[in-house]
Amino acid sequence: MYRKIFRANCLVAVLAVLLCSAMMVVVLYHYFEQQTVEELADDARILAQTAEEKGAEGLAALDMGSRRVTLIAPDGQVLYDSRADAADMENHLDRDEVQEALEGGWGLSKRYSATLLEKTLYYALRLDDGSVLRLAVSDFTVFTLLASVLGPLVLCVALVLALSAVLARRLARGIVRPLNELDLEHLADTAGYDELTPLLSRLAHQRETIAEQLQRAKQQQEEFRLITDNMREGLLVMDEEAKLLTYNGAALRLLDVPAVPAEGNVLQLNHTADFCSLIGEVLKGGHGKCSIECAGRICQVMANPVMGQGRVIGGVIVILDVTEETEREQLRREFTANVSHELKTPLTSISGFAELMREGTLPPEDVADFSSTIYDEAQRLIVLVNDILRLSALDEGRNSGDWENVELWDMAQETLHRLEPAAAKRGIRLSLRGKHAAVRAVRPVLDEMIYNLCDNAIKYNKDNGKVTVTITPGDKIRLEVRDTGIGIPPAHQSRVFERFYRVDKSHSKEIGGTGLGLSIVKHGAQLHGADVTLQSVVGRGTIVVLSFPCVEAAAAGKRDKAEGGRM
Ligand code: ADP
Repeated sequence: MYRKIFRANCLVAVLAVLLCSAMMVVVLYHYFEQQTVEELADDARILAQTAEEKGAEGLAALDMGSRRVTLIAPDGQVLYDSRADAADMENHLDRDEVQEALEGGWGLSKRYSATLLEKTLYYALRLDDGSVLRLAVSDFTVFTLLASVLGPLVLCVALVLALSAVLARRLARGIVRPLNELDLEHLADTAGYDELTPLLSRLAHQRETIAEQLQRAKQQQEEFRLITDNMREGLLVMDEEAKLLTYNGAALRLLDVPAVPAEGNVLQLNHTADFCSLIGEVLKGGHGKCSIECAGRICQVMANPVMGQGRVIGGVIVILDVTEETEREQLRREFTANVSHELKTPLTSISGFAELMREGTLPPEDVADFSSTIYDEAQRLIVLVNDILRLSALDEGRNSGDWENVELWDMAQETLHRLEPAAAKRGIRLSLRGKHAAVRAVRPVLDEMIYNLCDNAIKYNKDNGKVTVTITPGDKIRLEVRDTGIGIPPAHQSRVFERFYRVDKSHSKEIGGTGLGLSIVKHGAQLHGADVTLQSVVGRGTIVVLSFPCVEAAAAGKRDKAEGGRM
């Protein structure tokens, strides 16, 4: 800024000085010339008198100083010259000033030397006798005048330059200081010169606009962060080189990545072939989905390209945890296959026996046996279908009754009473121990659970064995069903709660088992917030324990769930 101002100042000042000097030189030149001409004219008039009266001798007697006097005859012959010998001089008739004087009484001309540094002014005056008196004098030319003022001119320019430097510095400081001292936070308070006001108001306006836009951007960013952080789905946004631009916590959690890698490339988040080829597909402009397994969970990855100006500029990837859906789907498929299989066997035998009876080829004494078999198979079907329906109801969360405080002791006693005939047939002793305790329960479901456990304890018991039900109140209310039966091999213990899982299929079917009893127990326990544990030793017996929350805790849990559900 300082240099610019200095340069401009100097240029203007030097130009002004030069222009003024040039003008002055021209004006002075004309002024001096005019003066010289007037002086020559006056001198010529005085000398004319001498020349007319005394001729060339009279002129020769005079001291002419710097003037050169020439007397020229009317035919141009030089009669007298104060600087040269008249006889040696050529005819002067063709001289401009002489011609003018002969024609008009006086004549003026100027002639320059070869270098233009010298100029001679000639003034000619016609005398009464027709001869011409000419006075000549050397005069300044423009250049000599210029040369004479050059010294002061250079001094003047130097002074002007120095003055310009000082002025430029002061001016630059004056302009720049308010700009340097600009307080962007308080533009209104900034003191400056008038020319600065439009800039300040524009700056203030722009600051307001930027602040507004920044605020809006921050708000949008915060909204985006809140939305994405609260999403259960994982979200990844990448650029056209698969560089990770944004992501949420769910994405890292689902992909089982503790932190984003330094290079931040999406391909580093999962190395499976399916994931990598899906990303490659998206970067080519395609879209698709794939399933990947991360940390024992099944994730569905859906990816779409982001287009801009007709080309792929990035991609958006959404990751969903579909473990439960996949497992449920798998279970449903297995369940459907199992149900079909379980239903098919009794239906096939019912249909076969019925067909034989319809044909009438059956000996009358066998009809009763066949009818009884058909009846048994139909009963089995009814039990099976009832179990399936109950399990489906539990599965779908449909309650088969209202919640109430149920006295466990009474219910267990009543169940054992119902099973007494079956136990008695095989000499199995049933006993109930412990104390009275109430649990918060859906009565039919709890009844079914206790019944199934006691029924199994009898079914899989040895003849003359023992079944003991023990109820223990406490922080958790325990209901234990202990038998002295065949036991369950360790390899099967974790699987007996699966639907249709039986340790010994044919034995279970023989004794009327559906393979759904323990499944119903497990789902019923989940409904009641109870834990189920199983201990078993082959040949010695099995212990199944249900641990229920106490009534108050169960009621509070229900309330929380209800309130959570309402929210
Ligand atoms: P089921 O209708 O076949 O009894 P469950 O679901 O009740 O079906 O039981 C699954 C399997 O677990 C049974 O087939 C049986 O092999 C085994 N099981 C269940 N309870 C006992 C028990 N108390 N003692 C030994 N084995 C048992």
